[in-house]
Amino acid sequence: MNHCIELTAAICQTVPESGPRHPNPKSIAERFWALVHKGGECWTWAGATNNRGYGKLNGGPALRFAVVLAHRVSFAIHNGWTPGELEVCHRCDNPSCVNPDHLFIGTHTENLHDARRKGRIVREENHPRAKLTKRKVTAIRKAIGGGMPRKSIAVEYGVSESTIGDIAQGRTWRGPR
Ligand SMILES: [Zn+2]
Repeated sequence: MNHCIELTAAICQTVPESGPRHPNPKSIAERFWALVHKGGECWTWAGATNNRGYGKLNGGPALRFAVVLAHRVSFAIHNGWTPGELEVCHRCDNPSCVNPDHLFIGTHTENLHDARRKGRIVREENHPRAKLTKRKVTAIRKAIGGGMPRKSIAVEYGVSESTIGDIAQGRTWRGPR
């Protein structure tokens, strides 16, 4: 899994509304803080999550309404730089947590080692597409057909954009029967 949604320098910037299709010009930081619950050790994400339990939010006009992962936004806000291609991992093993003290940068490989050490063995780690069931592929096809941006679909299903591209072109799956 390598979410490469670039948050850009727009993290704390509000882009003016450009028309009726942009009713909510809030900055990403504002969108983020509105959905954080600082209850205990972990800051629980109160917004929507993707199917792997990671918080997600709409990046708003600054990111052309792309969906971004909440823990990555938290990292960017608190550290002042965007993780880009780097993986943001959880010390607390709680994917919906956005407490910056619980987040660290790791490579994809480190993340897998970390998961293995914590007992979340991913047997199909060398076959990333194996984590997609036929049901999910069907849903992804629908999303593609519905015109949802591939970046957003990739975030939603925790796979790479190239996997989405493969599905769109029927390279990976001949189609659920
Ligand atoms: Zn935590």
